[in-house]
Amino acid sequence: DYVLTESDFVHKDDLHYPFEERGLQFGDGIYEVIRVYNGKYYLIDEHVERLYRSADAVKLKMPFSKEEMYQQLDALLQKNEIQNDAKVYMQITRGSAPRDHAFPLNVKSNLYAYVQDLSRKMDFMAEGVSAITRPDVRWDWCYIKSLNLLPNVIAKQEASEQGCFEAILHKDGEVTECSSSNVYMVRDGKVYTHPAKENILHGCVRTRMKQFCEDESIPFVEEPFRVEDIQDADELFLTSSTAEVMPIVQVDGKAVEGGQVGSITRKLQHKYEQDAGIKESQ
Ligand code: PLP
Repeated sequence: DYVLTESDFVHKDDLHYPFEERGLQFGDGIYEVIRVYNGKYYLIDEHVERLYRSADAVKLKMPFSKEEMYQQLDALLQKNEIQNDAKVYMQITRGSAPRDHAFPLNVKSNLYAYVQDLSRKMDFMAEGVSAITRPDVRWDWCYIKSLNLLPNVIAKQEASEQGCFEAILHKDGEVTECSSSNVYMVRDGKVYTHPAKENILHGCVRTRMKQFCEDESIPFVEEPFRVEDIQDADELFLTSSTAEVMPIVQVDGKAVEGGQVGSITRKLQHKYEQDAGIKESQ
């Protein structure tokens, strides 16, 4: 189990950080989660581009050029002999230094990336999951994949306490996204989702959804829908690198369209599998 760091590969048991680490003390850093199928990255360009956008947005100096980052990420899979489905978690913080809000001088960023096993959530994807709705109390810059995830963590915990898979977040009734995924409503053959503004994460899988809808001549409407609209939705689903295309069949205890998974969601699941090069659906 080797972890990639800014300087070298380190065995996971040998990786330690000082307690004055800015990721730990301020959440002063950014991260990515990249899906791996059959030992190969999926949507790697989208993730690397987003990582560097996040770094720019928070004035964080990346330890690697983009080109080096690709090489290092490949080396990480090789070093760990990954051939199956997995995910790579990577974070970069502003480094370790005596605690002070302002950026420390001459301190190098800390980076680590490691591989975790991850199997596809076949039953959930087949049957659909339930969700709750919660107010979105996060900051205005959710397009940055920052380490500050406390509102997301609390929302997900509340979902979990109610036996639900996700929390659908809304600002004054307007649905933004979920605690760790993007969310979409299907009505009258059209797919609605919040526009890729600064207040949501621009999901890499969301980008593919837009393309798949275009391929299939399904209107992809980037306009926010409201929590009340969910009760009249024909279909509801969420996407993320770990959840893929996940149908939502119940919200706040009420079934969405009879609790059945809809045909557009099924079509998009199928397109995802093809795009990701997943051979067979069980
Ligand atoms: N929105 C939030 C808040 C997330 O944390 C995530 C990913 O984990 C997503 C959306 C989906 O992003 P992606 O499709 O790039 O995995």
